[in-house]
Amino acid sequence: MAQKNAQDADVIIVGAGLSGLVAAAELIDAGKRVILVDQEPESNLGGQAWWSFGGLFLVDSPEQRRLGVHDSFELARQDWFGTAGFDRPEDNWPRQWAEAYLHFAHGEKRAWLKSLGVSFFPIVGWAERGGYGAIGHGNSVPRFHITWGTGPGIVAPFEAILRRGIDEDLVTYRPRHRVTELLVEAGSIIGVAGELLAPSPSARGQASSRLVTDTFELHASAVIVTSGGIGGNHELVRKAWPERLGTPPEHMLSGVPAHVDGLMLGVAEQAGANLINGDRMWHYVEGITNWDPVWEKHGIRILPGPSSLWLDATGKRLPVPLFPGFDTLGTLEHIQQTGYDHSWFILTQKIIEKEFALSGSEQNPDLTGKDLKLLLKRVGPGAPGPVEAFKEHGEDFVVANTLAELLAGMQKLSDAPLNAESVIREVQARDREILNPFTKDLQVTAIRGARNYRGDKLIRVAKPHRLLDQSAGPLIAVKLNILTRKSLGGIETDLQGRVLNAAGAPIDGLYAAGEASGFGGGGVHGYRALEGTFLGGCLFSGRTAGRAAARAV
Ligand SMILES: Cc1cc2nc3c(=O)[nH]c(=O)nc-3n(C[C@H](O)[C@H](O)[C@H](O)COP(=O)(O)OP(=O)(O)OC[C@H]3O[C@@H](n4cnc5c(N)ncnc54)[C@H](O)[C@@H]3O)c2cc1C
Repeated sequence: MAQKNAQDADVIIVGAGLSGLVAAAELIDAGKRVILVDQEPESNLGGQAWWSFGGLFLVDSPEQRRLGVHDSFELARQDWFGTAGFDRPEDNWPRQWAEAYLHFAHGEKRAWLKSLGVSFFPIVGWAERGGYGAIGHGNSVPRFHITWGTGPGIVAPFEAILRRGIDEDLVTYRPRHRVTELLVEAGSIIGVAGELLAPSPSARGQASSRLVTDTFELHASAVIVTSGGIGGNHELVRKAWPERLGTPPEHMLSGVPAHVDGLMLGVAEQAGANLINGDRMWHYVEGITNWDPVWEKHGIRILPGPSSLWLDATGKRLPVPLFPGFDTLGTLEHIQQTGYDHSWFILTQKIIEKEFALSGSEQNPDLTGKDLKLLLKRVGPGAPGPVEAFKEHGEDFVVANTLAELLAGMQKLSDAPLNAESVIREVQARDREILNPFTKDLQVTAIRGARNYRGDKLIRVAKPHRLLDQSAGPLIAVKLNILTRKSLGGIETDLQGRVLNAAGAPIDGLYAAGEASGFGGGGVHGYRALEGTFLGGCLFSGRTAGRAAARAV
């Protein structure tokens, strides 16, 4: 390693999101001096993870076993690789990261988190169900473990270690420091340079000013980049949009705050980092406009149960197996071929009560606040408060007592010509199949199958009923928008989190973790994700990079 003078710290971490906090915790435990810089004010500590639902991918956990779910490393591996579809030479490190991450999720992940005080809601969710066959995309079994306390519950233990590090003078936390350059000397990274932004009163998640008051330079033996992805920067999302997903949507909601701007990726590239798989991203198709927004174009994702009827903008039913919660990107690809950016759910009050969960800590006050009394209401009648609030105030919701009224309301919200006759035919035919004990409608079969799982039957999947059953009403239609969220590609790293250059060699002193590194390796998910793997990816890659940097400095 090159001789470096006038060190301000052993390691500088760029980004105070979950991956940065986890890396910092490792360095603090190793007794290293750390500077943690972030462009946002302190109100934002924890980054996206604070807003998250706290869903974590675990394999063969006690929570799964208690619910009669038989999972194994081999099954999870089959699902991961069937979903990822790795097919490029640059998937070399991502493949290795996937193997390592699967061992982590099957092995020490849960015990390590437990030792830090993290616990889980006992009912395991079944996300991304696939629908193509045993070795294709999707989770063969429920694996989505919700952190008790959601996003803030996963941030808390790492924030506590950071605060301890600050008290022990090991850590200097510098908000409002935006890094614009990685300093390179003789091929080694020796620090960062950037702009000092004006103090900001912005609350968590709100955009903060970009007024520059000064510049700064900091030196250390190593730098870890944990700056997140590109989902808040629609210009970059459109630029990276792959042909296989059709044309980029004209209208998109933002599922992440504005600080997820992707600019640091370009800064890393300038310093020689190899960026790979930028065309792989994970955006949702069930986005609704937040009636009470925190950031611009703020959208919330519905985590849907399987019963809603899914129609395109013109009223045509989506093809098999594009049922709610089955194949996020397959559905996105299909919607982009329809010529419109939105689609529709048609459902009943009974379905919304049981099957609409909204992703995000603030949308789940019971789980986030660890409020058992509020939580118990999930098993009782009525929709959770935040869902009911969307139904009442949300601009994408239509509520009506008859199908004719519903269709008129839907047409008012859309400039696409809605084929009312075709929708009526689909609804009536689907209702007939609900009463048919045999049925050729695979969505009906999937709903029945889901209810064989105790967790789904209890809180996630409504008892099958006709959409036009008056006693299940009123009828509800929800206009669904595309919602940007995660970057699946990023900075290429080896299994120690060391950043690689275009020739595949590690850049001395430079590490990356979290979404900035495609959650490890530059794209651990390949093309698609099994869900709950993003926070887990931050934990695993942040820990790996933190440990490796601690050993090296
Ligand atoms: C609403 C919501 C729900 C989610 N639910 C789940 C879930 O249930 N399960 C799951 O696995 N994942 C979920 N996710 C995804 C997950 O939360 C994120 O992918 C993850 O937290 C990203 O963490 P990170 O540390 O990589 O980046 P971030 O949290 O984005 O943090 C990066 C930090 O770097 C700072 N930064 C960026 N550039 C610079 C720069 N140039 N200089 C200084 N600082 C900079 C930013 O200000 C930011 O604070 C959810 C996300 C959201 C928004």
